Amino acid sequence: METPFTPREEAIRKYLGDIASIGKNGTGGVTRLAFSPEERQVHTYARNLMNDRGYNIRTDAFGNLIASKDSDQQGRKVMLGTHLDSVIRGGNYDGVVGFVVAIEAVDAAEKERSLPYGIDIVIFRAEESTRFNRGCLGSSAAFGFLSRDDAQKLEDNEHQTLEDAINNSGGDSSKLGNAWLTTNEYMYYFETHIEQATVLETEGISVGIVTSIRAAERMCLHGPYSLQTAAKIVLDVEKIGEKYAKTGDLVATVGKISSKDGNNKLIAGADSINTIPGTVTFTINCLADITKKDITKKYDTIATRRGVTYKYISNSQNFATVSVSGAAGHSGGTPMGKVYRKDALTAASEMILAIPSDLIPASKNIILYVDVRSNDVAYRSRAMGEIIEKAKQYPPLISHLIENSQPIKQLDEKLRTYLRDSAKELGICTIDLPSGAAHDAMKAALYGIPTAMLFVPSRKGLSHCPDEYTPTNHIADAIKVLAHTLCNLRG
Ligand SMILES: [Zn+2]
Repeated sequence: METPFTPREEAIRKYLGDIASIGKNGTGGVTRLAFSPEERQVHTYARNLMNDRGYNIRTDAFGNLIASKDSDQQGRKVMLGTHLDSVIRGGNYDGVVGFVVAIEAVDAAEKERSLPYGIDIVIFRAEESTRFNRGCLGSSAAFGFLSRDDAQKLEDNEHQTLEDAINNSGGDSSKLGNAWLTTNEYMYYFETHIEQATVLETEGISVGIVTSIRAAERMCLHGPYSLQTAAKIVLDVEKIGEKYAKTGDLVATVGKISSKDGNNKLIAGADSINTIPGTVTFTINCLADITKKDITKKYDTIATRRGVTYKYISNSQNFATVSVSGAAGHSGGTPMGKVYRKDALTAASEMILAIPSDLIPASKNIILYVDVRSNDVAYRSRAMGEIIEKAKQYPPLISHLIENSQPIKQLDEKLRTYLRDSAKELGICTIDLPSGAAHDAMKAALYGIPTAMLFVPSRKGLSHCPDEYTPTNHIADAIKVLAHTLCNLRG
């Protein structure tokens, strides 16, 4: 028997497959950078699909695609936002799921009843920061958070400015600075996205209701640090992160370590500021009186406790290489604690400190990049303050701020209740969870439109890579929940 809102799984798979073929890489995954021919092509695909479904379509001054369905009744609209651009060698689900859920949920809801409000599906351009080193550009423009001056300053690796990219693809940069998607027009904003972390998968739940959106404060710490000092700071960051996570919303990660004296072989693999290191390699000197057996006994204990594996490779010379494998993850999306984090760098740090210091090759110029995220600015700066205070034990400490973005403390309570109640009526289990990554929804919420987000699971928490995957039945559950919510919504 067909239950209400039975999603068309075949259609879901077809759309995902069609979109995966646009900007497809030989080695798997897709590349559809902001304002590239591939992004244009995927917008054309979406435009045609929505045209066939009776939407009126326009593009705004930034090049965002807006597909509208008016209601017979007067009143404001509901916006369903998403993006279809990708990182380099990205996956087939990030952004795309939001589009498929939006069009299918509106269809399913309309089959159930005629909606008493208009619908705008908005596909924001340039959500990924890959090309212009700043994310959520299309939504920032639409909600008035991007000035023309910003667009003139932001440029890609080929020194093309964002302003030129906008104007060359038919947009109008002179309109930047004022919001054109306004609160007068929209009563609610919804966005569905892959989780980019492992909470839903670990809990075995298909739909997450996002409570808040974290944003990062990023700091670069350096001094005349040896590898041991760096290891101590890495473990302090973890400890402080775990402490704050117990009493509030916070994650803290050292994702990147580099060595100023160019000796990156001392420790390799931690090279992305927003990623929990999945594999880290370091070298140790082997002195005659220390046997491999003594070291590996200690390392076995650390590896077991932290849920990582390691390889100890003796070299013919007087050193060995230790390669620690955990699991890479989104540093914003992955909760603290060893259930979720298999951080190869924190494990390696313990290993470095577990053996006599003369076994570690000398280095004196290590730089650490600390990423602390929370949905609460004050809480986040307290934690960062404590990290810096702790690092002052190793003087002289040089620190400088890399980023300081505005989080969303709470997504709309009323909409979250609508989503939770709708799921309950359908017999679909949900869980509340924060978003660790930034999304276009953040800009809608900052602008003042009541905003909600749904998450679907990401296999192994993977995102921004060809291995991204979300099972179709979970996407179908999100469609059901959103469709039922659209039917239940009141103004
Ligand atoms: Zn995305």
